[in-house]
Amino acid sequence: MQYRPLGKTGLSASAVGLGAEHLDKKPYAAVEETVHAALEAGINIMDLFMPGEEVRLNIGRALGSRRKDMIIQGHIGSCDINDQYDRSRDVAVCQAYFEALLRLMNTDYIDLGMIFYIDSEEEYLAAFDSPYIDYVQKLKREGKILHIGASSHEPAIAARMVETGLIETLMFPVNLAFDLLPPNADDMFTALENGFKSGDLTGFDEARQNLYRLCELKGVGITTMKTLGAGKLISAEHTPFEKPMTVVQCVHYALSRPAVASTLLGCTSRKEVESAVAYFGATDAEKDFTLAANGKAAMFKGACVYCNHCQPCPAEIDIAKVHRALDIARLGGTAIQNAKAQYAALEAPASDCIECGACQSRCPFGVSIIQNMREATGVF
Ligand code: SF4
Ligand code: SF4
Repeated sequence: MQYRPLGKTGLSASAVGLGAEHLDKKPYAAVEETVHAALEAGINIMDLFMPGEEVRLNIGRALGSRRKDMIIQGHIGSCDINDQYDRSRDVAVCQAYFEALLRLMNTDYIDLGMIFYIDSEEEYLAAFDSPYIDYVQKLKREGKILHIGASSHEPAIAARMVETGLIETLMFPVNLAFDLLPPNADDMFTALENGFKSGDLTGFDEARQNLYRLCELKGVGITTMKTLGAGKLISAEHTPFEKPMTVVQCVHYALSRPAVASTLLGCTSRKEVESAVAYFGATDAEKDFTLAANGKAAMFKGACVYCNHCQPCPAEIDIAKVHRALDIARLGGTAIQNAKAQYAALEAPASDCIECGACQSRCPFGVSIIQNMREATGVF
């Protein structure tokens, strides 16, 4: 297992975590098997957004005395009304479900208290300009949540939440196809429901790229959802690429985005947990998600996707990391300080580039690496 800093929370999260959605309505034996397999594999973070009593009780019971070994991402405002999964900003409703979460899980704290599912201006105001946010902050003051996070599917709204400075973590859907969809969250939900279509992908969405960089800049750790595009990306029928991606490629794509600390994968058995953590035994060739993007390379329009396909460099420059620092610096303003700190940690500076051009011929996305090395030399 690899562990990564979860933004500025001070927590170290396993790079692969557990999404518990599919444990809902499963018998206790399946929950116990999955949770125990996750703990044995070194997984130390799990998302639990479901409001149902039974699944909360089962997960708390399965964790037992190892509760402290798992970072619980719990959501404030996830509820069910008339047996229908729903969301609420009503403090009384939120409080009832949050207190039930603590009781059912037999714990007195939740590590990451998530502002649940904010995708629109209306939802943003209902959460951040209302007694709801006071309640969330009160939970933190009381130690009932240790950190405030938020979940969203929409990059502009997510960025707005990050800019408030109130949130320390963000749960966001991250995968290669979503990053290539038009900047419209409805397309994402359509793709999840009906499958991706090759023609739906129009090119890298700058808003999403900038969100990842903004999170990196602000020290907001991202945990990912929909890493496999609800299974569509690994399905021959629904993949928008020439062939289905593999789980390893999907995980690697998500983990190579700036600020991403952990990819949360939905598992319902020991076998699925073992399959998820098999990522750590994969070779670089197996992780190479650019293979999936064959035929889509033009969509990347010269933007670096931090894939490392251009290595090795005779000057031992980490080309992807130079680009990552440069992309953060390009955000302007105070971003430059953060970018400089990242750049300073590199073993070889961009100025070591001897302009041999070997990397450019290996880059599948036509990135002007030599030109960017010159720019980085100037900027840093
Ligand atoms: S052009 Fe520069 S960055 Fe690229 S491989 Fe050669 S030395 Fe390395
Ligand atoms: S320059 Fe090209 S090959 Fe290298 S990390 Fe960026 S996108 Fe990948």
